[in-house]
Amino acid sequence: MKMSKWSQAIHAGKGAKVVRSRPTVQPIFQTSVFSFDSLEEVDQAFSGQEGGYIYSRYGNPSVQALEQALARLEGGDQALVCSSGMAAITATLLSLCQAGDHVIAAEDLYGGTRGLLERELTRFNIESSFVNVTMPSKIEPLVRPNTKVIIVETISNPLMRLVDFAALVALKRAYRLTLVVDNTFASPMLCRPLEQGADLVVESLTKYINGHSDVTAGAVIGGTDNIERIKGFHIQSGAVASPFDAWLVMRGLQTLPLRMRQHTANAMILAEFLTAQPLVVCVHYPGLPGHGQHALAAKQLSGFGGMLSFVVHGGSYGAEQVVKALSMVDFVPSLAGVATSVSHPAKTSHRGLTPIERARLGIDDGMIRVSVGLEDAPDICADFAHALRHKDN
Ligand code: PLP
Repeated sequence: MKMSKWSQAIHAGKGAKVVRSRPTVQPIFQTSVFSFDSLEEVDQAFSGQEGGYIYSRYGNPSVQALEQALARLEGGDQALVCSSGMAAITATLLSLCQAGDHVIAAEDLYGGTRGLLERELTRFNIESSFVNVTMPSKIEPLVRPNTKVIIVETISNPLMRLVDFAALVALKRAYRLTLVVDNTFASPMLCRPLEQGADLVVESLTKYINGHSDVTAGAVIGGTDNIERIKGFHIQSGAVASPFDAWLVMRGLQTLPLRMRQHTANAMILAEFLTAQPLVVCVHYPGLPGHGQHALAAKQLSGFGGMLSFVVHGGSYGAEQVVKALSMVDFVPSLAGVATSVSHPAKTSHRGLTPIERARLGIDDGMIRVSVGLEDAPDICADFAHALRHKDN
């Protein structure tokens, strides 16, 4: 029909089906809703026919492309991409549990996850017990008739501790529990927990998978039954990822293997370098033979990763002196970007804990956590050498 320029501005570009060949890169479907030519098409879309998109909170091609890629990479049937790692963890726990249920959780879980369990889910009468999951014998006595979930991390923060998957899988099978593993620190390049018997993997895509510190997103990956159940909650609660963010993560994903290789190689060099420094009290890195779980790490991971922490004398003051004297390396309360960064667990990720709780977990006030980046390893070591020289003995 003939339209005025006022109407044309709205309708001129509508429904343009311009592409005959396949785009090399998945395009960004930056649309909140899809339109239909007939009620028959509406029926097909609502009955779940493939490609029948309706409204982007229910599903969007850019987001779905990332979901399919992540499912393949983690070795799951399906994945669900969410607006953050915490959104993925929240959707997972609230789908698996209901009022009156109980969760067993690693005591050194990421602070956000621990806070969710301790302060938010308790309001809905979902209780949690926190335990040192590096000691499997301590877990079994905590199982109750109402226990539904065990949640752990592949590599924990900031002590880089591991859990023995074989022991945990035997336990969850014996008591019919759902094992959820946060694989953020390892990424599927270093570990695929579903292959080792976990039921669900959650991860912050904000970290290694996107890898460029410019997106906040998360995902949960697993078997169809679990993911369909979580998807119901996810669509109703609404913490979906934007198509553009999904596209950016997809772009980051393509270099994940290369980045993880370089993060790992650089972290090993820095860990060995720091170990040899007289002002460093100790270094936590699973790749070091002196790490208490080095053998387990070699068995469960296909690389030791890009994260390490070390302790300097002098508590928070000592750590602050080192952090201030770094020149190339910035203080960043996140991780897994291309640039090396440091953080201070006592003042950031674990500030919600009391000093006694931190001491019990082994988190010293003089601890500095390093997310080792992709720069030349000698430059990274030189910056730390310079910073340590500026610290009082
Ligand atoms: N899991 C781990 C291990 C994390 O370190 C983080 C964030 O730092 C999260 C989950 C939460 O991810 P997001 O910040 O994307 O919500």
